[in-house]
Amino acid sequence: MVPEPVLTIPKKRRQFMKEAPDSNAAKKIMLEEFTRNNAMCINCGEFVPMEILHDLSYYSVVTNFKLRRAAEGIRKDTIPPIIKKVYPDLEFEKYKTLKSDLNWLHEKVKVCEDCYLEITTVYHL
Ligand SMILES: [Zn+2]
Repeated sequence: MVPEPVLTIPKKRRQFMKEAPDSNAAKKIMLEEFTRNNAMCINCGEFVPMEILHDLSYYSVVTNFKLRRAAEGIRKDTIPPIIKKVYPDLEFEKYKTLKSDLNWLHEKVKVCEDCYLEITTVYHL
């Protein structure tokens, strides 16, 4: 289930609301249309057309997070931010167990292309 953005209104949605005709009923219809054709990237909260969301496995997230931190010289292990977004209450101890669970690692989240590239960019030093 994709959660509703609560704290921030994504840029594209704000833009959309500005362009909606100035009546609540019209706004509601347009918003419904908009959310039917678009889905939220769980990482950045932007709404993008459903068909350009990318599947990102937890395995990619965990592996790339580890590589990136190694490249930055950070030794302390923490939960990757996107995992925190999917599981806000996840404890670090539990995360340590999950990241060696192959079933869990093969689960996927849907993210926009920018986030996909940002998360999966491997440093070539
Ligand atoms: Zn995104």
